[in-house]
Amino acid sequence: MAKGLTLKNVVVRKDGHTLVAVDHHIAPGQVLTLMGPSGSGKSTLLSYITGTLAPAFRAEGRVLLDGADVTETAPHKRHIGILFQDDLLFPHLSVGANLAFGLAPGGSRAERAEKVAEALMDVGLDGYADRDPATLSGGQKARVALVRMLLSEPSALLLDEAFSRLDAGRRAQVRSFVFDRAKAKNLPVLMVTHDADDAEAAGGHVISLASATPHDVAP
Ligand code: ADP
Ligand code: MG
Repeated sequence: MAKGLTLKNVVVRKDGHTLVAVDHHIAPGQVLTLMGPSGSGKSTLLSYITGTLAPAFRAEGRVLLDGADVTETAPHKRHIGILFQDDLLFPHLSVGANLAFGLAPGGSRAERAEKVAEALMDVGLDGYADRDPATLSGGQKARVALVRMLLSEPSALLLDEAFSRLDAGRRAQVRSFVFDRAKAKNLPVLMVTHDADDAEAAGGHVISLASATPHDVAP
């Protein structure tokens, strides 16, 4: 069984036109980048992979995680983590409570608090558990969002223009942070972006999606 994330002849259509077509395997620890302009179907492809495709689309092809077909699996049971550009932390919860939200259910209160504290330490935010998310910098928020996602122990990571709201300095920093973590956890990563710097920083295979113009009419 091939470890990693496999997209087997995945085709997403809208109004009879092919929006995106991908046939690719992403091995653990590797990054595949899909580059395409706004409207080219990047987020839509990711929604198919997470099992949340909007009714306006039709899709076919299989999604496999570590060799297991999850195409028909309920979204929350797929163990696929996704980060968006505006990965909002819950404003009414502390940083620690935001992280606890990512934890799988179970364990005592103390065990959960311990996991959260460890995760914070791991990302250089030791002692931040009681902080209001509003008091964090953009880069710190991005790190907390990543850690919350990793605490859910995903088997694959999807990045939907996850870095595009960060300023140039922070962007490179958060980006390498995310890629380092994903590599350390041996996760396959699928990143979609319109930014060539993101693609280069990923250091993996890059596929360019066609423009948003319909280029194929289904039979
Ligand atoms: P990207 O992420 O590359 O910017 P999207 O996947 O968001 O592109 O959108 C692809 C196309 O599908 C666009 O033309 C967009 O307007 C359309 N679209 C996106 N979401 C929906 C939806 N929920 N229902 C109908 N059309 C949508
Ligand atoms: Mg998008």
